[in-house]
Amino acid sequence: MEAVRARIRDVPDFPQKGVVFKDITPVLADPATFREVIDAFVSRWKDERISKVVGIESRGFLFAAPLAYALGAGLTIARKPGKLPWETIREVYSLEYGENALELHIDAVKAGERVLVVDDVLATGGTADAVGRLVARQGAHLVAYSFLVELGFLGGAKRLGREHVHALLSY
Ligand code: AMP
Repeated sequence: MEAVRARIRDVPDFPQKGVVFKDITPVLADPATFREVIDAFVSRWKDERISKVVGIESRGFLFAAPLAYALGAGLTIARKPGKLPWETIREVYSLEYGENALELHIDAVKAGERVLVVDDVLATGGTADAVGRLVARQGAHLVAYSFLVELGFLGGAKRLGREHVHALLSY
């Protein structure tokens, strides 16, 4: 995983001053590190009987799709308001300034399904927590949240419940 870490690019002051953005595009662009990351996700989750992987807009989609395929699970997507065409449920979460929301189709996950929520970066956990609430509202079983990168100093794992959080790399 150190080759993967070496390809994660720190971009200071993006998208706003004071944030060090973890740019994962070089990981995707390199065949060996892209494969290493997906293989690592697969090896962690292959024995957990995951029936549905939920990818979080937008970079979560990039990992959720190949992971779902490799696990033989279904894929569904949590999107920003107004993007999903069918009937949706919505959860609002707060940001440093203002609030945001994510939606799932009402039939995206079914009661009793074993669900894995996937995103690129865990920061404060507000985004993933909103998706967890959407999954819970549909009566599905949230097995875990899985990330490429966890920014440990922001406390996201604590917010989500440490036992439910997995990350391939921590900072
Ligand atoms: P949070 O809700 O604070 O956990 O933020 C997580 C969401 O924001 C994820 O979808 C990430 O892609 C994105 N994000 C937050 N902080 C960063 C960061 N420092 N670098 C890259 N992406 C980030």
